[in-house]
Amino acid sequence: MQQTPHSILKEYFGYDSFREGQETLIRQILSGGDVLGIMPTGAGKSICYQVPAMLMPGLTIVVSPLISLMQDQVAALRDAGIPAVCLHSNQDQASYFAALDAVRSGGVRLLYAAPERLLTESFLSLTDTVAITMVAVDEAHCLSQWGQDFRPSYLRITEFLAELPRRPVVAAFTATATQTVRDDIRRLLDLHDPTELVTGFDRRNLRWIVERPAKKYDALLQILRRNKNKSGIIYCISRRLTDEVCSKLCADGFPAVRYHAGLSAEERTANQEAFLRDEVQIITATNAFGMGIDKSNVSFVVHYNMPKSMEAYYQEAGRAGRDGMPAECTLLYSPQDIRTNTFLIEQSDLENDRLTPEQRNLLRQRDFDRLHTMVQYCSSTDCLRHFILRYFGENAPTHCGNCGSCLAETETLDATVPAQKILSCVFRVAQRGRHCGSRMLCDILQGKETKSLKEAGYQTLSTYGLLGDVSRLQLEHMVNILISRGYLRMDTSQYATLTLSAKANAVLRGQEQVMMSLPVRDLKQTRREQRLANMPDYGVDEGLFQKLRRVRERLAAKEFVPAYIVFSDATLRDMCNKRPSDEEEMLAISGVGKYKMDKYGEAFLEAIAEYGSQPQEDTGTAM
Ligand code: ADP
Ligand code: ZN
Repeated sequence: MQQTPHSILKEYFGYDSFREGQETLIRQILSGGDVLGIMPTGAGKSICYQVPAMLMPGLTIVVSPLISLMQDQVAALRDAGIPAVCLHSNQDQASYFAALDAVRSGGVRLLYAAPERLLTESFLSLTDTVAITMVAVDEAHCLSQWGQDFRPSYLRITEFLAELPRRPVVAAFTATATQTVRDDIRRLLDLHDPTELVTGFDRRNLRWIVERPAKKYDALLQILRRNKNKSGIIYCISRRLTDEVCSKLCADGFPAVRYHAGLSAEERTANQEAFLRDEVQIITATNAFGMGIDKSNVSFVVHYNMPKSMEAYYQEAGRAGRDGMPAECTLLYSPQDIRTNTFLIEQSDLENDRLTPEQRNLLRQRDFDRLHTMVQYCSSTDCLRHFILRYFGENAPTHCGNCGSCLAETETLDATVPAQKILSCVFRVAQRGRHCGSRMLCDILQGKETKSLKEAGYQTLSTYGLLGDVSRLQLEHMVNILISRGYLRMDTSQYATLTLSAKANAVLRGQEQVMMSLPVRDLKQTRREQRLANMPDYGVDEGLFQKLRRVRERLAAKEFVPAYIVFSDATLRDMCNKRPSDEEEMLAISGVGKYKMDKYGEAFLEAIAEYGSQPQEDTGTAM
């Protein structure tokens, strides 16, 4: 039978249809054209080069920045019956040469390589004997100095391409959508008239939440309670905090492991493995964790601190819900985070000495602008999904129904007068040649008598106590709204102080009305909790699901692979719903290909049959 992209997708990956964008890119590659695929994390970039690699003669080289990423992908491909190998610096000589031999013998379809490897002699000699039909560049934004993880070694890809006897198809993929990065990728890889495809950035199953708690750790415990027995990542801004949160959680009965660059390689690997294999549900980590971790059943990602940019945030938080199940992404924000990030930007040496001082300044300014966007995000009380998608250049409705703002009980009212009072208070403070942050601003407007307020002499301002009748929560929201809509600017280069923007004038002069949707007064915390805890449920039989998970664990241990490589949670759920009873029905499950059917199918069919013959309990999982 003639193989087609669809038959490969079904036979090896077990999926019935392509997702948005995949087929277009695959067809283009097969017709010999370069491509640039821009898709958010979890959209399914790998399929775009893995499927054509199976259909084209010759070898596909995949360049990938991280060893763990390569190893994972290669393990997953092999488990699906696709011959793939990897070459990287952490390999012992024997397995390195074994991999080279396998490639030479012609049996390998995909070769994963670290960019440093490409120009080595042994690697180049390969290209004399084996025809290379495609070079796929994963995480292609690493090429660009303007991207968030520039890797100079990526520039070697271009040199490597020039060394080849025939130029292969070049396919580049990234989740970073900004125009500068795209231009850089196209130029630096010298893509030939590439088909550029940007798929929707929306991840509908992700619930976006920002909390501004007085006590972050308590807020974290709340999140963990509403995500009991689920797998999650907690990102912290520093190694110290990563350790601290991890030990506190362990002491409080939430077993967790940690991950950051300060740990020994052994501990890092052991902790990562424990998390990937579902032996422990929670991992606290710095941003060193996660690139290339495609564990599909991560149900929540908490940011204990505000990240430095929307790009970084979307990538890290996007590690939740890859299996398409409902998942929660919560950012715990405090103004202190601005100071920490500012400090980090100022300290960053911009690792590249090829930059001129002007370029350095420009980069730093860009970092501050990105940080400012994050402050606006954290201050926003409008639809968070809308905010994110607009940032990535997409039109989106202003109400999504699945974010912290849309789920909050709010009332929309004309807040022009309090807005004027807030803005004029900022103005009065500035008249005295000073600036204050949002906490002090609220204290002044509420007529508080704190020590620092009196020391600064603010009790004599004409705006002192002007909003004493508004609740603190309401007032903080109003200030946040004014920040996120750009009437107030929060200074990222100093101490999170507020200044008026030009836009504020129209409001102060009474030429512009300000509507705000504000949290309903005195809303009980418990009611809010209930709303957030209320996740859509796919209503599978929990008993069967747990049974299948145990089968999966057993098989994974036997094969020495992470559980999700055997089958994803989404695949197990599909089995729970359809309850296949023979091979043919099993092959109709999403994620079950021929090879995996032969390897694992029987064990799952048995478990399902066994479960079906037991007396059923009503587990009561309703939609
Ligand atoms: P990315 O590299 O874009 O972050 P991956 O390639 O890791 O995403 O894919 C994310 C998940 O989606 C994987 O579990 C993958 O198997 C699954 N997936 C990809 N394409 C499809 C498809 N057409 N149908 C169903 N699942 C898919
Ligand atoms: Zn929303």
